Amino acid sequence: MKIVGLTGGIGSGKSTVGAMFQALGVPVYNSDVQAKILMAESKELQEDIRGLLGAESYENGVLNRTFIANKVFKDKELLQALNRIVHPAVRQHFLQWAKKQNAAYVIQEAAIIFENNSVDFYDKIILVTAPKEDRVNRVVKRDQVEAKKVEDRMKNQWPDQKKEEVSDFVIHNTDLEQTLKEVQRVHKILLKM
Ligand code: ATP
Repeated sequence: MKIVGLTGGIGSGKSTVGAMFQALGVPVYNSDVQAKILMAESKELQEDIRGLLGAESYENGVLNRTFIANKVFKDKELLQALNRIVHPAVRQHFLQWAKKQNAAYVIQEAAIIFENNSVDFYDKIILVTAPKEDRVNRVVKRDQVEAKKVEDRMKNQWPDQKKEEVSDFVIHNTDLEQTLKEVQRVHKILLKM
């Protein structure tokens, strides 16, 4: 079974595109969602995260997301250290999940693929892009956050141009009807892979 990575900057529409593939019958694994579940439920991860960020990372055994987010938000090295703990756990969980799927290919949706040197893990990579302004507006609307906060998060991510060079498919997501057509086109190619 082939493993396809689905990525894109914040607000580009990864989840939206992921849902379109899922509707075509492709199993889609959302790394961010699963990471949050694993961080909340895995005792091993809990111990490592407490060790890195402090006991306040969990309150009565419940993941304190705000504390963690504030702590790593402006500290790139700490964020990388957290990623080094969480990513191997997600990778292992993803592989267990993938084994159970019955499909020509599966998709792993992940916000960071290039930034953490995971490119070689995938047979193919799909990049979702959209104009920066649209992305900021979408996230502001979706999460009720300030534009500045979204822009700050963008700064931690590679620019699209650099990502496009290492991606196998680029899906430009502005007009949703067009996006669906692109998804169908890419799906056809991936089925023949
Ligand atoms: P994040 O990196 O923050 O997880 P994402 O890349 O997964 O985001 P989505 O959650 O799919 O992006 O999309 C961000 C928001 O923009 C959502 O509220 C979604 O409904 C909306 N959206 C996605 N694509 C479009 C589009 N083509 N036109 C208008 N709104 C869109």
